[in-house]
Formats: sequence, C-alpha cells, structure tokens
Amino acid sequence: MTEIHAIGNIAIRRVTEMRGPGFAPDFLFPDWDPSVLQQHRKLMVPDCFDEAQGRFVASIHTWVLKTRHHTILIDSCAGNDKERPALPRFHQLNLPFLDRLAEAGVSPEAVDYVCCTHLHADHCGWNTRLLNGRWVPTFPNAKYVFSKAEYDHWSGPAGKEGFTAGVFEDSVLPVIQSGQAELVGGEAAIGDSLRFHPTPGHSPGHVAIELSDGGDKAIFSGDIMHQPLQVYRPDWNSAFCEHKEHARASRRWLLERAAEDRSTVFTAHFANTSAGHVIRSGDRFDWRFV
Ligand SMILES: [Zn+2]
Repeated sequence: MTEIHAIGNIAIRRVTEMRGPGFAPDFLFPDWDPSVLQQHRKLMVPDCFDEAQGRFVASIHTWVLKTRHHTILIDSCAGNDKERPALPRFHQLNLPFLDRLAEAGVSPEAVDYVCCTHLHADHCGWNTRLLNGRWVPTFPNAKYVFSKAEYDHWSGPAGKEGFTAGVFEDSVLPVIQSGQAELVGGEAAIGDSLRFHPTPGHSPGHVAIELSDGGDKAIFSGDIMHQPLQVYRPDWNSAFCEHKEHARASRRWLLERAAEDRSTVFTAHFANTSAGHVIRSGDRFDWRFV
C-alpha cells in the first residue's frame, strides 16, 4: 500500500505500472563515475540500485491528485498493447494498471485532468487504450494537458523516427482528435492549484508541474532526473536528454527551487517512495526520501 502524501488539502498517491531493474549505469549516464554510487550506497542500495544485476531500479508510475474539485493524473506511464520494438520494456504490455487505479479509488470516468510532463513513451501511454482495434482516450471525461512546444516537436518528423516512433500517433493524436487536448505555452495555470513551468532539455517542451495549496508546495519533476544520484551530480544528463546544456540548466533550476521552497519533489522514475526533499548546503544538494 502506497502512503498518501498531503500538500495542503490535496491528497497525492502513487499508482505504479511497473518497477524493476532497468538501465546499466554507464548506459543511462554517459558521464558515469562508480565512486558516486559508493559515496551514496546507503541511499541507493537496495531500493534504487540492484547490485546483483548491476542496474538501477526504475519505477514507472502515475501520480494521482485529489483536490477539492478534481481528480488529476500526472504522467500516464507506458500503456498496454503499444507497439514499441525499440523499447522492449514498453513493447506490447499487458499490465493491470487500470485495476491498480481502481484500487486507489479512481475510475477512468472520474479523471478530470491528465497532465504530461512530456510526450515520451513512458509518460503518455495510458492516455489511450486499444478498443476494437482503435486507440481511444482511456479517460473519457478528462482534459489532457501538454506543453505546446512538446506537441509541436512530436507532431513533426521527430514523432515518426527513432525510439519514440509511433508514440505521437497512438497516444497523443487520438486525444487531439477527440477534442480533449489542451495545449499550453510558457508558464500556465491548470485548474486552481497547478502550474506548468517550462524545463526544456530532456525533451524540447518538457515541463515541471508545480503545485501549491495552503502554503505547502510540490514539484512533479518528470524526467529532469532519473535517479537520486543526479541530486549529487546535477551535471549528469541521461542518455535520453536531447539538449545537454538546457537539461543541466533545468535540473539546477529544479534543485534550487525545491530547496528554496521546501517543496516535496514527486519524481517520475525514482524507486523507493519516488518522492523526497532537496536540501541545499552551499553549492551542493542532498536528497531525503519522504
Ligand atoms: Zn521517463
């Protein structure tokens, strides 16, 4: 049973699609230095790093927010039945994600907003499901909110090639066609307590999503970071970060902002509880799971 976090009057819980050993460190981080893992062994082993396999443990999950008026999902995992030959972990899945959502008290009809930090395969997959051979919106009453820069990028040639081929067509286009998509540019308020903040780099239109209620703050960080070690090495990009300098600047912004505001950071892929606090001392940062 996942714990429920409270940010002001908003209840937040994680619903997990999958969790397990993922990438080898020297693949995920081109600048990998094994001594950093040794320095932070207590934080990383065994929850976030599988020593037997020599791989990071990754979680793929959605964050479910219940506000006074709305049920909101942040990032929608990889989805079932998707054709992802270049991404074996996400290829032709058949996972009970909707059952787990139901266990968390959420029916597809009850979801008011689905917000995607970006449009990679593991962040927008459950936007749609396969019904009688067609991709249809999984959440029939939801508004799906994306950044316009992200939409512009993936609706072009980038959406048809490489490891993201097909994602736009099967997981984004159907919700555009159903009239359920809302594209936002720059800083934008969503509902009464969320705000999109552009954090380009990992992908061109990546956003962090800030939440504020009753004096409490949170940031949903998407793929600005993949593993806790990046708190200690904010200069480490993942192999999937498209614009290296922008990605580093966005990571630094996130860490500074989270430390200054005492925000709870809700990550997209950290294992353990997936959420934590950033503590700053001078030019360095520290991570505590909550
Ligand atoms: Zn991701």
